[in-house]
Amino acid sequence: MGETRTISGTLMLQDGRGGVRLTPGTLLLADGVIRRVSEGIIDPRPDSGGEHAIVMPGFVDAHMHLPQFDSIGIDGFTLLDWLERAIFPAECAWEDPDVAGEVATRAAQSLLSFGTTSVCAYGTVHHDGTKASIEALAAAGMRAMVGQVLMDRNAPPELCRGAAQLVREAVSLTEWTRGFAASRGARIEHSINPRFAISCTPELLSGAGEAVQRLHAPMQTHVSESTGECEAIARLFDGRSYVGVYQDAGLLGPRSILAHGVWLDEAERSTLAATHSMIAHCPTANMFLQSGDCDLGALGRSGVRLAVGSDIAGGNERSMVRVARAMIETSKRVAASTGKGGVIAAGRAWWMITSGNADAIGWKRTSRLEPGAEADVLVVTPDVRWQEAVDPLGTLLYAWDDRWIEQTLVAGMAVTRR
Ligand SMILES: [Zn+2]
Repeated sequence: MGETRTISGTLMLQDGRGGVRLTPGTLLLADGVIRRVSEGIIDPRPDSGGEHAIVMPGFVDAHMHLPQFDSIGIDGFTLLDWLERAIFPAECAWEDPDVAGEVATRAAQSLLSFGTTSVCAYGTVHHDGTKASIEALAAAGMRAMVGQVLMDRNAPPELCRGAAQLVREAVSLTEWTRGFAASRGARIEHSINPRFAISCTPELLSGAGEAVQRLHAPMQTHVSESTGECEAIARLFDGRSYVGVYQDAGLLGPRSILAHGVWLDEAERSTLAATHSMIAHCPTANMFLQSGDCDLGALGRSGVRLAVGSDIAGGNERSMVRVARAMIETSKRVAASTGKGGVIAAGRAWWMITSGNADAIGWKRTSRLEPGAEADVLVVTPDVRWQEAVDPLGTLLYAWDDRWIEQTLVAGMAVTRR
């Protein structure tokens, strides 16, 4: 066993029922992995933590865009105008791989300081720029899935490529990333990322679907975020259903992450459930771009698997705790308008932004405090008297302050300390 580290405090553990529980204890880490979880035993002189610390898994962001990191908060647009006016110009800069590497490095450092240790992200249409971002996230030690964006229409010409070329590049980057991760011990993979069906011809979508099937690659895209987007899909695809377009292209499956899903109908929800695809709910983005409130209760009743993401920069929040808070607030608004209940509890929200997201994405050893799990750990010291709270998980969530994060560890290495 290599160098060991002990962390003591109140541990945030999975409760086995899709929530979390708090209990005093000590973690023993070695070789980037949690070796032991001792409940009820506080190390009097731990390497990190202590009596007043809360020790929790790092957060998992199931949907965000690395090249949009400097575009947070560009307000006054809805989705399609925002893409054209704010986002496509920012993504053009990634033609220079040095720019891409610099932005991705900065994004990784910032996310780690907010407690996010794993991300599912988009690069841009640029092959070398996306590759540079993969190297940057790997160097930061994060667990990540990143995809070169595929677009061959309805975007500025400098961001469009031919379908055949894009599919070739996506296949090659998937294979390159597998070799890179294996040789470096990096926790990174490349996904196939058709941006959304508006910016992809049927030829590109089916080429991407074949690549997903052949390589058993994960897939990321967007679906049914805004009404304007859904109307454009109906025009471009002769009135076919949005989810049906992806299904016909072979893009749905257990490692398919479709962001948003605000305006899905019952048949679309059933298709997502039947194919075990997941919706990455992005409540802060849906609010910021005024896309609408996603009905998580309806998705859950249909059996659709769920994850939750920041959707930077459509979403303005980098902290997954505040994204979780927005998810609860969305569920309260939807419950009030439908009368069907389904308000998400704080314990559920904590679980979702940690091992719940990781499980959905297929990262079974990530973001959980249990023996054998990757040691992605946050040491947090709240300034509220959470021990005496009636609902400590709610108090932690709503009183949360990023300044509480004393330390972020990725694979057992301390990467930030305030
Ligand atoms: Zn997005």
